[in-house]
Amino acid sequence: MTSRRRVFKGWILSGVCALAISAIVVSCEAVKQRGQGGMASAPARAKNVIVMISDGCGFQHVDAASIYRHGETGKLPFHQFPARMAMRTHMAGGGYEPELAWRNFRYVDINPTDSAAASTAMATGVKTYNGSIGMDLDFDPLKNIVETAEELGKATGVITSVEFSHATPAGFVAHDKSRGHYEKIANEMILESAVDIIMGCGHPYYSNNGKKVEEGTFKYIGGEETWKALVEGKAGSDADGDGTPDPWHLIETREDFQKLGQGPTPKRVIGIPRTATTLQQGRAGEKTSDPYVAARVEVVPTLAEMASAALNVLDEDSDGLFLMIEGGAVDWASHGNQSGRMIEEELEFADAVQAVMNWVEANSNWNDTLLIVTGDHQTGYLTGPDSGFPDGAIPVWNPIENRGQGNLPGMEWHSKNHTNSLIPLYAKGAGIDVLKARAEGHVDTRRGPFINNIEIAQTIREIWN
Ligand SMILES: [Zn+2]
Repeated sequence: MTSRRRVFKGWILSGVCALAISAIVVSCEAVKQRGQGGMASAPARAKNVIVMISDGCGFQHVDAASIYRHGETGKLPFHQFPARMAMRTHMAGGGYEPELAWRNFRYVDINPTDSAAASTAMATGVKTYNGSIGMDLDFDPLKNIVETAEELGKATGVITSVEFSHATPAGFVAHDKSRGHYEKIANEMILESAVDIIMGCGHPYYSNNGKKVEEGTFKYIGGEETWKALVEGKAGSDADGDGTPDPWHLIETREDFQKLGQGPTPKRVIGIPRTATTLQQGRAGEKTSDPYVAARVEVVPTLAEMASAALNVLDEDSDGLFLMIEGGAVDWASHGNQSGRMIEEELEFADAVQAVMNWVEANSNWNDTLLIVTGDHQTGYLTGPDSGFPDGAIPVWNPIENRGQGNLPGMEWHSKNHTNSLIPLYAKGAGIDVLKARAEGHVDTRRGPFINNIEIAQTIREIWN
């Protein structure tokens, strides 16, 4: 349930109504200030939590992107966050043992997690099977962190650069035995959930090049009926628990996403950019060319524009917010071993991290907000050149080769699938000590301290408790 104390900024209000609501807001602010005064020594509670997931991103992915843009590693916006650690990502029944991982080059290939199990683990705090969207091993629904946030009266949202009904955003909102049930999952998210922001691809009438198509594809949007209801402004459940439905306000154009980043906002927004499956990664052009050789699709928003828009809607709730932001196509480019497009997607994600940091610094602060930047698993088994077993039985993992700013780094892909390799996690703001404490005692010989992916939801709940 979304907070009833939410401020309804915006174009739907009459002057009288706006006055009445201003009065409520003023009294809420007073209550909040008294509360803070009475708990001066209380630990940071992270009123706002933002989790950013670069799907498929390992340590080498961020190195390659940083080298390409800056000519050196460690220069992306999250690289200097005060909490830096690794995370293990395997599904239920899988594992990661540092000693085995660094003795056998192919160890991390064994039974890798998929994005559904990884998302469910991070969102619910429970390991599950590949393909599960918010369900445990007995097919019982698990409570996710969005539902926890809603119970606390917070505004909530999920946004992604791929289809919003795809595994990662779905795992934070929906419950289904199979990630493949896109239509059902989309309908649960749109028609049943209490989430306040959904943004992602899956537009029925546009191609991956942002061109209008005649025949609609409604799979990712929940079917033709749901699309019609969204267009007519009639879709949506009672999100704030006041007994009346809270219909979605649909936006599609890049201009509308940009406008939503500032000023008054509707209460619940679903943003479906005018593209089929991805913002940029699926566009035409040679997929294995260097970054930015193919012209970008200009009619769709950037992930950073989507993030700014989402935060401007959600920050009307005085109880705080939870937002999950996914760079979904890092994974897709990595499955295709597309070095240039992977770098593009990782930089798109890095720009979204910068947009979130800008929002925190302008509209909140790091005592009120926790930002976690991580991935869900590594894809493509990326290394630097001449890795593997170049001279026989002793495995070698060479770093990404720096060939100078603006030049494609030396990269070598060893898989078209996911791996169970440790992935990076960076965090800044309220509650990072909880994450650091959880990593203590689990140390990888090369990557240092690491947490388990289920500890994302567990940490957030601990901080909110
Ligand atoms: Zn994948």
